[in-house]
Amino acid sequence: MSVITEVKQRLDIVEFVSEYVTLQKTGRNFKGLCPFHSEKHPSFFVFPEQQSWHCFGACGTGGDIFSFIMKREGIDFGQALRLLAQRGGITLSPLEAPSKAEDEKKERLFQINDAATEYYHHLLSSTKAGEVARSYLARRKVMPETIKEFRLGFSPDAWETIKNYLLGKDYTEKELVEAGLIIEKEEGGSYDRFRNRLLYPICDIQGRVTGFGARVLDDSLPKYINSPQTPVFDKSSSLYGIDKAKSAIRKKNLVIIVEGYMDVLTAHQHGWQNVVGSMGTSLTEKQVQGIKRLTNNITLALDADLAGEEATLRGKAILAYSNAEANVILLPPGKDPDQVIGEEPALWQKLVEQAMPILDFAFQSVISKVDINKARDKSLAVQKLLPSIYEIKDPTQKFHYVEKLARALKIETSAVEAALQKLKTAGKRPQPRKPPEQARLARQFVSSSIEERCLALLLQYRELRPLAQELSPEHFESTENREVFVKWQHSSDMPDLESELDTSLLEHLYYLVNKNFPPAIRESERTRHRDLAQCILRLQEKLSRKLETEKEATLEIEREKGGISSELSKLEEQGIKSGQQLQEVFVKQRKKPGIQ
Ligand SMILES: [Zn+2]
Repeated sequence: MSVITEVKQRLDIVEFVSEYVTLQKTGRNFKGLCPFHSEKHPSFFVFPEQQSWHCFGACGTGGDIFSFIMKREGIDFGQALRLLAQRGGITLSPLEAPSKAEDEKKERLFQINDAATEYYHHLLSSTKAGEVARSYLARRKVMPETIKEFRLGFSPDAWETIKNYLLGKDYTEKELVEAGLIIEKEEGGSYDRFRNRLLYPICDIQGRVTGFGARVLDDSLPKYINSPQTPVFDKSSSLYGIDKAKSAIRKKNLVIIVEGYMDVLTAHQHGWQNVVGSMGTSLTEKQVQGIKRLTNNITLALDADLAGEEATLRGKAILAYSNAEANVILLPPGKDPDQVIGEEPALWQKLVEQAMPILDFAFQSVISKVDINKARDKSLAVQKLLPSIYEIKDPTQKFHYVEKLARALKIETSAVEAALQKLKTAGKRPQPRKPPEQARLARQFVSSSIEERCLALLLQYRELRPLAQELSPEHFESTENREVFVKWQHSSDMPDLESELDTSLLEHLYYLVNKNFPPAIRESERTRHRDLAQCILRLQEKLSRKLETEKEATLEIEREKGGISSELSKLEEQGIKSGQQLQEVFVKQRKKPGIQ
């Protein structure tokens, strides 16, 4: 469940708005004086069933609990999310929770990392000390353009090189420690973390340097060290080269994941721009989440010796956190991608083309290691493979693997299914506090699918932008969709939009950007045009239907109340305010039949 849905389930809009506006119950709904424009007679309505509000007066606009607090407090979506989550007692993930002060601190760390990168790169390319690193790179056939593009660097065999350089740039010692570039000594003072090493700057998807990977240039150990965890660097969520690979990954709708830095450099040099590095670790959930924003097709290049274990572990990670289609490339024994790509490009091409589904591969390697005539081995194989099967979302695929496992182990399909069922009951989650109305959810689902189709078309096909002039934020009922639309309206391109959007919505954005369309839409501009026009029409119809229903509800209330207040307000608007005149109005009203 998204945190936005959770907020909406925990907080009641009537209760929440009452803190700002004195609300009065009228029929099934509530009304009060609009907090957004000055008025004497209530035209501001709250609809508990829809959990929405609307001002029928001067504002002529409405929305949900998010748009209410954003408008009322003049805050942006991220701040609203944090405020509402706090009210609802919902804990946000770090991705959803950064504060302004933290943002500024991070910005400063990015600046420090960038200055360090620039200086290390200078030391590598233009100093005598850098010769040792230059010749290493030449031996590994890394071209000068690649060195420049990836901003490779060199840290000399000295204790205070980067420290003195950055202190001279007005950064403080404390900041340099925080950036992970220098280490504090227990007895006081500090020294450079990276010494006599080749440096690989690691960037986030936006190309900002978050940290460094550092390789020794002699036989000393450890061979590789990394920046420590910092407010901007988290190794388990980083992918080496992602900033340079992202557009190729989108274009080819495929990412190839290798382990080493050098693998990435060589791949890019040979035209494989869709390759990124997991930096030696097993692929993590966070890394998969990052990738999922770009493509659903993941190919892992695995070391022949470790492949079996890895495939089951990683396969589970991939399947658990996305619906990604994961394949495996099995490298020739003793070779890494760097060597294969550099020495036998044709073989690499073939390996990529023949990559096999990760689960098939896991099956093969698990089954080949057990004796299926032994009961204990059978249950061991089930234990290893079942969690991966459990995570498959597509029922047809899931059944395929259930059957496959049953066949391979010579057991009944029903036995595998029973074991799956057991896993399912074990992993059941508690129900949300307030179970939502089924009908409302179903309706929201249908309407949000049109909203999403509309947004996905706009995001994926720039030429459609002019058509969106007919749309307003109010056409989007889903909070996520509305916020993406608003930010899209004001941004010029994708990177711009990514940086404008609150981080908690990035995942939704990438989901929209990767939404698949049928070939007819992909191939014909005219079809796209027509499809979007259809979507817009349906959104407009939906909005006017909604407004009509709301308006009707308010009118009915006025009629029920016999119209005294509406008479009064008409007069007041005409400027008749004296007690005498008001008295006359009351007398007139009382004389009407049926009114007490
Ligand atoms: Zn208003």
